[in-house]
Parts: sequence; C-alpha cells; structure tokens
Amino acid sequence: MRSSVHWRRAAMLALGAAFGAAAGRAQTRSPAVSAAISNVRYDVTADSAAVQSRHLGVTMTFDVAGAAPVLLSLPAWSPGHYQLLWFARRVSQFEPEARGGPLEWRQTDFQTWEIRPREAGEVRVHFEYLADTIDRAEAWTQPDFAFFLGTNLFLYPVGRGFDWPATVTIHTEPAWRVTTAMNPADGPSRFGAANYHDLVDMPFFVGRFDLDSTLVADRWIRLAWYPAGSLTAARRDRMFDWLHRFVPAEVAVFGEAPFRNYTIFQVSDTVVNGGGLEHQSAQMDEITTGQLDAPWLPGLYAHEFFHAWNVKRLRPADLVPYRYDDAQPTRWLWVSEGVTSYFGALAQVRGGITDSLGFLGTMANEAASIAGAPPTALGDASLSAWVGPADGSGFIYYPGGDLAGFLLDIMIRDASDNRHSLDQVMRQLYETTWKRGTGFTSAQWWSAIERNAGTTDGRFSDFARRYVDGREPLPFDAVLPLAGLRLVIDSIREPRLGIATVLDSGEARVTEVSAGGAAAAGGIQVGDRLVSLGGVRVGDDGSFDAFRARYAGTTLDALPAVVRRGAELRTIQFPVRLFSRPSVRILVVPDAPARAVRIRHGIWSGTVDR
Ligand SMILES: [Zn+2]
Repeated sequence: MRSSVHWRRAAMLALGAAFGAAAGRAQTRSPAVSAAISNVRYDVTADSAAVQSRHLGVTMTFDVAGAAPVLLSLPAWSPGHYQLLWFARRVSQFEPEARGGPLEWRQTDFQTWEIRPREAGEVRVHFEYLADTIDRAEAWTQPDFAFFLGTNLFLYPVGRGFDWPATVTIHTEPAWRVTTAMNPADGPSRFGAANYHDLVDMPFFVGRFDLDSTLVADRWIRLAWYPAGSLTAARRDRMFDWLHRFVPAEVAVFGEAPFRNYTIFQVSDTVVNGGGLEHQSAQMDEITTGQLDAPWLPGLYAHEFFHAWNVKRLRPADLVPYRYDDAQPTRWLWVSEGVTSYFGALAQVRGGITDSLGFLGTMANEAASIAGAPPTALGDASLSAWVGPADGSGFIYYPGGDLAGFLLDIMIRDASDNRHSLDQVMRQLYETTWKRGTGFTSAQWWSAIERNAGTTDGRFSDFARRYVDGREPLPFDAVLPLAGLRLVIDSIREPRLGIATVLDSGEARVTEVSAGGAAAAGGIQVGDRLVSLGGVRVGDDGSFDAFRARYAGTTLDALPAVVRRGAELRTIQFPVRLFSRPSVRILVVPDAPARAVRIRHGIWSGTVDR
C-alpha cells in the first residue's frame, strides 16, 4: 500500500529533480494551517442553465477576523468509496472576493487554495464545478437533474478540524425538487449540518425525479429515484415490501435505528458505473435501466442499509475520524464491507425476502467468486482497495469477508452452544466503541468474539493468523459441519460466446467481440443487438445465465443467435465452445446432530438459545 505521506514526498522529489528550486520550496513549506473562519455558508446553483452546461455554481461565504491567509481544500475522496478521485480537478473559474473586490489567491497544491483577505469581514469564494461524471461519488447532471455529494463541492479550512457548523442553500427552478439527507434549516431550500463530517455525507438530488416514503421501524424511509417515471407503482410496492422485511431484521441486530429518517437515492441510466454507496442516513445506488427489476436488488439495498451501522458508525479505528485530503487505508474492509454483505444476506432470509436455500445460494456464489482469485489475505485485500489490484484479488474482501463472517458466526455459536452469535459481537462493539466516540481496534474485535464464544483457547487467533493475516483458503470443511452444512465444488462445462455487452432498452448491445471466440467465429459484430441465444430471449441480466445453464454440458456443435443489425433481423449460427467453471454449492446435511441444526436455525432466524 502506498503511504500517502511517502507517496507525496516521492512525487515532490521527482519534481525537484526536474525543476530544482521551485519544487524545493514546496518541499520545505511549513505545515499549513488556515486562518480561522466562521459563519460558513455554501450556495449551490443547480438551475436549468447550470445543468445544461453540466456545471454547478458553488459559492462559499464565511467571516475572517483579519488579513491572515485562509487555506481552503477540497476532499480527495468520499468516505465509503475507497478511491482517490481528487474533486479539485473539476473546479474552474475560482474567484475569491470581499466587499465587492477580488482577493489575491494562489494554489499551494492541487487541491488547496490560499486566499489573502485584506481585512476582517465577509469573504466569498466562487467556482464552477464540472458535473459530468456518473459515479456514485461524483457529481452528475442531466438537462432536468443534478446529483452531488458535499465532498465534491464543499471547501474546508486546512488544519482547523471539522467540528464547525454550516448551512447549504440550493438555487434551482421553482418547479424542481430538492431532496437531501441533510436537516432543513431556516429558509427555503436551506439545510444545516453541525459539523463537516455530517455536511459532506449527505447526497443531494435536485430536479425532476420520483419521490415517495414509507414508515418502517418508526422511521420514515424515502425513495428518491431518477429519472422520473422509474419508480412505478409496482416497483414502489415491491420496494416497500422489501424494506418492511429487511430493515427490522437489521435494526434487531443493534437494537436501534440511529437516524432520524433515511433516503434511498437511485439513478438508473443506460450507462452507469453500477453499485451503491452508503451514507449515515442514506444510500446512493446506480443501476442500468436493464437492472431495475434484477433479482439481486434486495441484496444491494440491504447491504447499503446495514452500513448505517457498520462503517458509518461502528468503524475500524483507522477510519476515525475521516480525513479527506488523502487515502485512509485500513486492513478491516473485510469487516466493514464483507460482514456487511453477510448481515445483508441474513436480513433477507430473516425478513422472508428469500429462504434458507436462497441464503446458502448467496454464500455459495461468494465462495465461487473467491475460488478463482489468487490466495490473498483478507487484511491485504482490504488495504489494496485504494489501488485496485489487477491480479484478480481486487475486492475479494467483499466475498471473503462475507464468508469469514459466516464462519466466525458458526464458530461463536458452536463454542457457546448457540448462546452467543456474531450479532452480539456487532452490537457490543457498536455500544463500546462507536457510542464512546472511537473506532474498534484489532484487539477489541477479537476479544469481543472470544468473550461471546466463551473461549480463549486460541481458535480465533488461529483464524486471524491463517485467514485474515495469512493466505490460507477459508476452512469450510472444518466449520460448516458445525452448522450441519457442507460445501461441494463441481466443475460445470458451459458455453461461452466471447463477447461483452451492455443492456440498453431491453436488448444487449455487443460492445466487444474477442478474437477467436465463438461469437467471432459465427460473425457476430460489435454494435449487434442480441435478441436471443439458442432460443433463450436476451432481455435482462439473467439472460446469459439462463443461456449457459440451458446448454451446460451440451453435445450440440452449433446454436442460433438472433441479432438486430441496424433495421435488419438476422439469424447467425455460432459454434458451441464449452469452458469449465467451478460450481459451488452449500448443502444442508440431512442427518446433522441436533446441536448443529440449532446453530443453523439460529443463524437464519437471528436468535440464540438461553
Ligand atoms: Zn458496502
């Protein structure tokens, strides 16, 4: 992992070699601290003219006590999205002024501006922000819509901490909506936050979009969906049903819903980055239009929702408090992300969205997804989130952490004769760390597990050494039988086409054809729209799975594909090429001991024995 300080120093040394004295001065710059500022307000213009130009107008207004330089920075990343995005790169027309006249300014690094006030009084800083990127941590505009996060737009004074209040006022069209997770403040379209951490953790939707809400577990949960019309009555009813099922199951783990209300922001578009991003009282999900009815959606929503506790509040000590100027690596994303997936899956089975077989299917898919990855320690994979390893181990802290949580839960229940569980570990750490203003340490995590398991015989330090810090494969064969379960790996031979597609208006448009693949041999071309494959209609995410499943192990030599090329429908014969893929199943052992059966049912129902 690149350490931020060393990486910057290395970059400056490299510059120093090329440019000599100028870089040398930057290197010896004294630690930067801004003059104090107060009465901080932000105004954001997201009207029709602004979004047509794909920009947001941003004005920051504050008071200074004298002429000392003010240093303002924009964040380099957004908490939860562990990638450096450098929001400053989208700033233009930077203009500070006071009493109607421009102020002197210069950049001290790529994300920091030094402003020279002339005297005590009010200072206004204006800039334009390019909002043309669809990615759940980046600002995005359409002709009738804007999405942004505070990390994108809101400058902070360097070295002054984050414990200062601010207000945000949105300027938009009278007929357009403004929805944000921020609390309302005095004045129309004005919102307030008690500190910078809260301020920048609140997504905004401005424009025309669907909005609805339902009361669950004594809290209003809002749906804000773009584009308008995507939240149909059927989708709303289904979504409300899911919420009424998984939210209470998640609240039950911690015993409280720690937010005043909660908003599920969603954008669907033909081209999106895909996935969700958690906030303390909201989630921002991005899906393709072809995924609006995908069967895995409850898993996405339940995962992001569980983050309201796990990582937005209960958090590894490395992430407390958040810093915004550079990467903030931790070895604990396998808990913050993977264990979140585990409880997201549990909330679905506990709430009745899926059944126990569905839950085991999810776990088996996770096992399949790490089966092909190079052996990687869960801690190392967590650190590497910031660089996105190219060797296939990127993001394995999700499925690996999900499965590690599952195995630890079984081990805790087995050691305590099903009197304790991972649920209790999470709740106790939430009480003893987050509620006391700290993050959890490695010692706190493992001792909470040992305390609940009622053993210090070394089995959990062994688990940490071998699977979290070490690279051994997870011990399915030793642990799953304790819950009357068994993991089976088969090899499936299934057809592959050798194409990449993007779903667009109910059709899969071919974006890549790999040379030498079956599709290339049959004459399928980039730009073709797939209508059907081997008689399987292509219409959504599951179509290709259905195609592979239907022809797994087939002895046929060729299959027909119906494609639309321009206005013309063509039937193309392509050769069948079978490839082996590991297929993982987790099976219920029929005659498991009663104790194992109690553990299994305890996991699915969220209960322990007394
Ligand atoms: Zn997550």
